[in-house]
Amino acid sequence: MRQRIVNLVSMVWPVWLVCVGGVEAQQTFQEKPLAKLSSQEMSEWGTVALGLSPEKWKHAETEHFIVHFVRNGEKVGRFAEEQYREVREFLGDRPDLLKGRKSQVFAFFEPEDWRKFAARVQVPWAAGITRGDEFFYLAVTETKRSEAKDRTLAHEMTHLVFNRFYRGRLPLWLNEGIAEYFGQRKTSTISQFRQRMGQTEPYHLGKLLAAEKYPERPEEIQAFYAEAAIIVDFLTRTSERRQLLPKFVERVMDGRDVVEGMRLYGYQDWADFEKDYRKYRRHF
Ligand SMILES: [Zn+2]
Repeated sequence: MRQRIVNLVSMVWPVWLVCVGGVEAQQTFQEKPLAKLSSQEMSEWGTVALGLSPEKWKHAETEHFIVHFVRNGEKVGRFAEEQYREVREFLGDRPDLLKGRKSQVFAFFEPEDWRKFAARVQVPWAAGITRGDEFFYLAVTETKRSEAKDRTLAHEMTHLVFNRFYRGRLPLWLNEGIAEYFGQRKTSTISQFRQRMGQTEPYHLGKLLAAEKYPERPEEIQAFYAEAAIIVDFLTRTSERRQLLPKFVERVMDGRDVVEGMRLYGYQDWADFEKDYRKYRRHF
């Protein structure tokens, strides 16, 4: 399925967040030569990435990540660890299925190399790509850093971390909804989130939940992501509801009925859910 291969179709170019930190992550960051990493295993895509300007890449490890970078590797590593902690907590502190195995982050710094890479892996329109336990993105661009780019990075990193905690296939809307929730809701206030998500027309709910591929028109794509994020926000708007989400994810995995998942929240059927959701949706 498409979203298993390319988790991300971003409309904007990503760049890292600087507002994250933590002494803990800093202490675990260790730069080392490629041959000294705890694992040299990587996908063919990883090999392609490191083959572009090979003299420029540096490598480091943090607790859960191997980071390949050209500059500012510590920032990338800190952000990844921070996102790891947040997503893990959101998912109810489930066991990490990858255990000691580390996810890999390839932070490109040369726009030209990124363009070559994206073309080689046949996703020339993507700004970042999560595939299994590897994440590739362009960390620096010709344009300046912006909040929108920070949100994109948070979105993408969420996919990478999420993949460590669940096996199975998530419906496209929920996969994107959780990532977009982290990209948008977690990086802004509730009123900013509502304002931003409310900029597009509501996306047809039945169509959203049944979607197996991304919409084609840009404005529809935006509406798709927004609606998915609003549903995740709706499902987690109180601490009681937040605790139900990990179970909800399990119930809707592998193509199972969404209504079955919604029963966890006390909804009898689809109409019952929709009525309550519509009421919440008016805030956007
Ligand atoms: Zn995504």
